[in-house]
Amino acid sequence: MTKNDLIAIGGAGGFIAGALVRYFHEHGFTRIRAADRKPLTQWYQRVPGVESLCLDLSEEAGCRRLCEGAAEVYNLAADMGGMGFIEANRVACLRSILINTHLLESAWRAGAQRYFFSSSACAYNTELQKDPKVRALKESDAYPAMAERGYGWEKLMSEMFCQEYWAERGLPTFIARFHNVYGPHGTWDGGREKAPAAICRKVIQARDTSSGEIEIWGDGRQTRSFMYIDDCLAGIDRITHCDPLVATPINLGSSELVSINRLADLAEAVGGVKLERRYKPDAPRGVAGRNSDNTFIKKVLGWEPGLPLAQGLERTYRWIEQQYYDRKAGKRTLS
Ligand code: NAD
Repeated sequence: MTKNDLIAIGGAGGFIAGALVRYFHEHGFTRIRAADRKPLTQWYQRVPGVESLCLDLSEEAGCRRLCEGAAEVYNLAADMGGMGFIEANRVACLRSILINTHLLESAWRAGAQRYFFSSSACAYNTELQKDPKVRALKESDAYPAMAERGYGWEKLMSEMFCQEYWAERGLPTFIARFHNVYGPHGTWDGGREKAPAAICRKVIQARDTSSGEIEIWGDGRQTRSFMYIDDCLAGIDRITHCDPLVATPINLGSSELVSINRLADLAEAVGGVKLERRYKPDAPRGVAGRNSDNTFIKKVLGWEPGLPLAQGLERTYRWIEQQYYDRKAGKRTLS
């Protein structure tokens, strides 16, 4: 891979792919093609000098256009959101399989040298995630399969497409199972946001309105780990350029397990408030507990995502706070 080889990135109007475009640009890559079905004016980040296209990647023509002449293809396009979204939109989540199917075929036809797929911890067997005191999930825990309905099954099936394109057709594919990613320039309102952004927004709003309280989905005891965006980008790069990982799904997540209550404590600490908690037991809450077992990634890469949640959350909170007050002032914002 030279700095002049073409990198193609799908889903670039969104959170992670938008940041990945910036990452490669800052690392000196001169030819980047970015695509998303959203109009360019709605992209979360636009990087000058990058070829940015509005394409529907669930259609073959869009995928062919994105992959023309590409040396590496990154698929981060999917219909996705937090628990509220994926539980209520299983059909939309399942239909993301069209994106990966057409993009793989187009990458292979274009002669791409590497293909990256963003899978998810939702591909893991849900039977193993019924206790908040989780045993961290290792890569082999995806089978026997009982993935999250809709979204998780789409990820598992798409992983298999990637593995078979390597086995039968020789396209080197790389698959990371992301565990919750958060950070600036992500969705923070509107229904698709995930827990860290939602909690930060609620604390900011409670401070602004002096309501003194915060709504928490579930009982607050469900546990998760959260990975800061910079760790995610470094991980994507390392995984995609590690030949022994070809067609081998690998966890990309933090192993710092916290409860949602703890997440709220951290956001309150940044905001300098203490709020009364109103629990909403019937709200979507996902599995009871989930953490990333990083034994494999440490062994193969000698690295794991490392930014402590307290630090990453502070940066995220400050960015959302700015967005919140910008929106209040009538300025254009992401959500
Ligand atoms: P995001 O919603 O911010 O970005 C996804 C982008 O894909 C959006 O901009 C959307 O418009 C685009 N898209 C959807 N359908 C499309 C289509 N048909 N054609 C072109 N573009 C289309 O989400 P994100 O957080 O940046 O997630 C990126 C990837 O990482 C997704 O595959 C997601 O499933 C995966 N992932 C994310 C997390 C997380 O915590 N954010 C966790 C696990 C997996």
